[in-house]
Amino acid sequence: MKEIVIISGKGGTGKTSITAALAVLAGKNAVIADCDVDAADMHLLLSPDFAYKEDFYSGKIALINQAKCIECGKCNSVCRFNAISVINNNYTINEINCEGCGYCAKICPANAIEMKDNLTGKLYISNTRLDNTLVHAELNVGAENSGKLVTKVRKEALRIAKETKKDYIIIDGTPGIGCPVIASITGANYIIVVTEPSVSGFHDMKRVFELIERFKLKSACVINKADINQDIVCEIKNFLVLHNVQLIAELPYDEVFVKSIIEGKTVVENDEKCKIKASLETFWEFIQNINK
Ligand code: SF4
Ligand code: SF4
Repeated sequence: MKEIVIISGKGGTGKTSITAALAVLAGKNAVIADCDVDAADMHLLLSPDFAYKEDFYSGKIALINQAKCIECGKCNSVCRFNAISVINNNYTINEINCEGCGYCAKICPANAIEMKDNLTGKLYISNTRLDNTLVHAELNVGAENSGKLVTKVRKEALRIAKETKKDYIIIDGTPGIGCPVIASITGANYIIVVTEPSVSGFHDMKRVFELIERFKLKSACVINKADINQDIVCEIKNFLVLHNVQLIAELPYDEVFVKSIIEGKTVVENDEKCKIKASLETFWEFIQNINK
């Protein structure tokens, strides 16, 4: 089984739409994982049925038992995160500000503060319109620790792929270089970086390859909208040669790509003949030929 992760240095490169196109080409032979939990949108193209839902907890959060509170104000004075204030004459926790350090619970003379598990998101396992499985998640507004949720999504995808004997796990990874990206790529068989020929696209692509190099992972690159700036495409190619990274596809800008997304499908499902479709099919062949 091959675990392929598609990432980008920044958002807006077309990473998710390209990953969804690969999911179409892989069909029933793949489990799809949407690890971009901070801005999950793979479900918009794959029409999942949300068959299984599970709450995801991460860290702790303070909760004041008003019946026990003697209104001494000590908790409010020690909280460094301004998470405790008086609302309607009650000492109240602001759940977004609370960092779960537990200091307030420790010093409360009335034992009125409990540290409870923090509900930060939801995990879903769905059947998709492609008749394959999508493992996806949703992080609550203001919730942190998305790396843990990414790890959970990957673990579930791996479990299902093993149980159902699939050949591929195709992962839509998180953009950037932070903790969620590291959680997306660690231990994967192959990382594919989608970039675009813009100043920020090239800059962020370099940072993401530095990260991949540090983790010693096999990788390749895809340039999306490759015909919009030939100068930067040249710079990207020089960088890839210097870092011994294979360029596996140059996808041209094509309105059919956007038109397909508006229709809720991927460009490879569009009836119109176009170069980008052929390039994505070649891209899929490359993945099929990757040695584990
Ligand atoms: S420290 Fe305890 S008793 Fe004092 S205000 Fe806070 S919750 Fe109430
Ligand atoms: S747990 Fe820490 S951050 Fe949260 S309210 Fe108490 S002191 Fe503030």
